[in-house]
Amino acid sequence: MIPVEEAQERVLAEVQPLGIEQVAFTDALGRVLREDVHARVDVPQGDNTAMDGYAVRADDIAKAPVSLRVIENLPAGTVATKRVEAGTAIRIMTGALMPEGADTVAHVEITDAGDDIVKILEPLRRGTNIRRRGEDMHAGDVVLAGGTPIHSAEVGVLAGVQQPVVRVGRRPVVAILSTGDEIIDVGDAMAHGKVVNSNSYSLAALVRETGAIPRMIGIVADTKEATIAAIESALESDFVISSGGVSVGAYDFVKDALDALGAETKFWQVAMKPGKPVVLSRVRGRLYFGLPGNPVSCMVSFLLFIAPAIRKAMGQRSNLLPPIVQTRIGASLKSRGDRRNYMRVRVVARDGELVSLPMTSQGSGVSTSMVQANGLVIAETGVTAIEAGSMVPTVLVGPVQS
Ligand code: AMP
Ligand code: MG
Repeated sequence: MIPVEEAQERVLAEVQPLGIEQVAFTDALGRVLREDVHARVDVPQGDNTAMDGYAVRADDIAKAPVSLRVIENLPAGTVATKRVEAGTAIRIMTGALMPEGADTVAHVEITDAGDDIVKILEPLRRGTNIRRRGEDMHAGDVVLAGGTPIHSAEVGVLAGVQQPVVRVGRRPVVAILSTGDEIIDVGDAMAHGKVVNSNSYSLAALVRETGAIPRMIGIVADTKEATIAAIESALESDFVISSGGVSVGAYDFVKDALDALGAETKFWQVAMKPGKPVVLSRVRGRLYFGLPGNPVSCMVSFLLFIAPAIRKAMGQRSNLLPPIVQTRIGASLKSRGDRRNYMRVRVVARDGELVSLPMTSQGSGVSTSMVQANGLVIAETGVTAIEAGSMVPTVLVGPVQS
């Protein structure tokens, strides 16, 4: 049995970034950038006004109130044809380039908004209300570094530098199989003793959420032969995930199947709850993750071990592991204390701090305890009780809620 941190290290050590492909920048959301993106020009391309108002000379309005002659009207996108000389002003709209001669913008709120003659009511420091050339980007700057995940702001910057096509990491294809004679698929007739396959679907959704492509292999019977055949059929994918069959029960055949396939096991058990039996193995060049069958164990092990592997495979270079923050626990929790326990909570922002609200049930078979869970409070080995109000380390696996 190895600690979680060591298991995460061993997983990441086995993963290399996959190949690169080119996509339209509009399709890049959720991918990882695999090239540095440079600004070609200064943005903004010249000094421009941050406010609607009048381009003036600061010296002219030093003794405000003063009246100035309006010599031109300048909507955004147009360029002045005249120069602001002493005693004059040019009416200017947000974003328009500063006319020559002007060094300050008197925002409309401190004027009488005059058409031919404008009265400026207050003096301003030279340079007020001006956005400087290159304030956003300088030509040649790296504005997005390779290895960055592409979210909305990154899409905006790609548009801003007019980069129509970007190099991104290929999305890994992740095969998903669920073992168990008791498992029936969605839509099958329910029978006594059967369990609906929820793992394949929650795992496929997690794979998608992480940016990869799920490939459903389906339900596999609890025999060595069926397990071998299913794993073999999954090996065209980049990663293989199985749920169930990794414990030490009489019908747990994943280990036998992996042995028969000549797999090289990297670890077999991790010191954690839920999810002690978690397998990392290399089978014919592919990385194989064997997760426990309990729905919560399955999802928690995915979040701790497989999501980071997918991120690295797509080319992400930092922040691979989910962050750990201190939260104040909203209600007391009990733990067995025999292993590190990851307890499901909903992390909310309350009165300026992060508060963890524990799910009512912490059973590893209670799939509904994952609903709305965005955090895992860590109760270390030896800890049997956490008092309400105490601060606890918490793995964030989703956005903090309000
Ligand atoms: P196992 O790890 O194979 O011993 O499975 C443990 C328990 O997890 C089983 O008894 C089922 O109740 C549950 N389980 C296994 N596979 C699935 C699945 N695909 N979907 C939902 N629950 C499952
Ligand atoms: Mg089973």
